[in-house]
Amino acid sequence: MFKAILIEKSDGEQRVGLQTLDEAQLPEGDVTVRVDCSTLNYKDALAITGKGPVVRQFPMVPGIDLAGTVEASTSEEFQPGDSVLLNGWGVGEGHWGGLAEKARLQSRWLIPLPSAFSARQAMAIGTAGYTAMLAVMALERHGVDPDQGDVLVTGANGGVGSYAIALLSRLGYRVIAATGRPQEAAYLRELGAQEILDRGELSEPGRPLAKERWAGAIDSVGSHTLANVLASTRYAGTVAACGLAQGMDLPATVAPFILRGVTLAGIDSVMKPRAERLEAWRRLGELLDPEQLDAITQTIGLEEAIGKAEELLAGRVRGRVVVSMA
Ligand code: NAP
Repeated sequence: MFKAILIEKSDGEQRVGLQTLDEAQLPEGDVTVRVDCSTLNYKDALAITGKGPVVRQFPMVPGIDLAGTVEASTSEEFQPGDSVLLNGWGVGEGHWGGLAEKARLQSRWLIPLPSAFSARQAMAIGTAGYTAMLAVMALERHGVDPDQGDVLVTGANGGVGSYAIALLSRLGYRVIAATGRPQEAAYLRELGAQEILDRGELSEPGRPLAKERWAGAIDSVGSHTLANVLASTRYAGTVAACGLAQGMDLPATVAPFILRGVTLAGIDSVMKPRAERLEAWRRLGELLDPEQLDAITQTIGLEEAIGKAEELLAGRVRGRVVVSMA
């Protein structure tokens, strides 16, 4: 038997609770993992609260990330006792996920836990940090170097935003953090932000082109914010778009693309091929300071995850939430 958060739906009503389940109920997979830690991402909060169409079948155990220890495996790649990490692949959406003491998974979704991190630290990073790394790698690929100008990070106090600031500043970029929580400026500066911008300056409808302000940006907000970020991106700059905290829409014009040669790089972490995942996690191991992980993270038990999901969606959570099964 094991404990899990279970989301059920009947007559159009979603119910969520902590339940004790039998291993026989676990879905199919060639590796069974004892989950040591999971985490709460924005997507997990949408799934738990039912405020976004994340869950594709019911009942569902949410949790798009997990770190744990292999208990049983029929895959040649993983043996009992191996420490493993999972991010995405539709787990916690269409296949039971990490907010549970056990998970049964496909071996092709798993990577070895990077040696630089404990299970808790890997979950402190989670999809948020791994996505921030993918976004930084996209800026690098498109030639945004620290000597070309500032890089803007929107949704600065969120999981993706916090890691984007830490990674960019470690790589020598001058980072501008756009936030709706100026009271957290000291935290953002500690992460490496050099300038704080009120997100209100970006969140309303703006002009197709505005003053050139940044060479690159990592945006986890979408909507008018992304449109305004593009409008203020310098000639030949790149914006990596990875989120929709303000909205899914993009009320922009093509002006930044055709008049300033701006590139909009889309970031998807969920189906990212294995080689790029391994590279992203290798870079995270190189760049992140374990002490910084602690500053970004709070740890809760599985029973607290449901209430925390509401707080996260209300924008009251700073940084990252690790869910420990211990
Ligand atoms: P999070 O921790 O909740 O952070 C989101 C941040 O966005 C908030 O902390 C807030 O920052 C800002 N924000 C919230 N509501 C806003 C609004 N109405 N207007 C402007 N800013 C707003 O979430 P996360 O885990 O970092 O994820 C951020 C986004 O990226 C989500 O949309 C998530 O789905 C997406 N995501 C995508 C991928 C991918 O593969 N593409 C992977 C991970 C996450 P401030 O308080 O500092 O303003």
